[in-house]
Amino acid sequence: MEFSERQKGIIEIVKNHEPITSEQIASLLSVVRSTLRTDLSVLTKMHILEARPKVGYCYLGDQLPSKTSSEYAKVTVDEVMSRSVAVDEKMSIYDAIVTMFLEDAGTIFVLSHGYLAGVISRKDFIKSAIGGADMKQIPVGIIMTRMPNIVIATVNEPMIDVARKIMEHEVDCLPVVETEDDNGDTKYKVVGRISKTNLTELYVEMFKDM
Ligand code: ADP
Repeated sequence: MEFSERQKGIIEIVKNHEPITSEQIASLLSVVRSTLRTDLSVLTKMHILEARPKVGYCYLGDQLPSKTSSEYAKVTVDEVMSRSVAVDEKMSIYDAIVTMFLEDAGTIFVLSHGYLAGVISRKDFIKSAIGGADMKQIPVGIIMTRMPNIVIATVNEPMIDVARKIMEHEVDCLPVVETEDDNGDTKYKVVGRISKTNLTELYVEMFKDM
């Protein structure tokens, strides 16, 4: 999973000031201690930090044993996915481009009534621009690649299968979905995104000791 900005901040502080108490971390981040309770508990459970009684938090991240290659073969989507960036199908192309910049995402998922309806990539936006589309008026639903032609991933899917899908379909990113049954119709809730960047991060992690 990707860390939140606050979790990244906590990790950096503990790395640089360990051992450090939660009060001291809170004071460096200018927040009250209770704000950090969930993040500290998540980071401790993930063995990124260790809470030593009467001493404070220490950084464990670098000491994590590397996975063996057979363990890496079992890494699943939920372990490496990023949060999803999605807009409603009625949003204008212009606003969706702004979202793409603000969210720093190369692919945006499009929702209809909260469910996956399509995908838009940078090239889709460029195509509509050179075609002279009125970007402030035309909704993204018109230019997206739409269901059922969307290649999807699920949380428990092995990353090797995702890598194969990305190569086979020549796309940069897949929506990570959970299925819901709507009177016999399968609908998809988007719960994350998995991209070439996540695959690259995993690759670097695999060979970090080299
Ligand atoms: P880029 O536009 O940056 O080259 P992609 O290669 O991912 O990005 O997209 C190429 C085309 O494939 C676009 O038309 C886009 O809408 C479509 N596309 C992107 N992701 C998917 C996906 N997961 N499933 C189906 N089509 C996709």
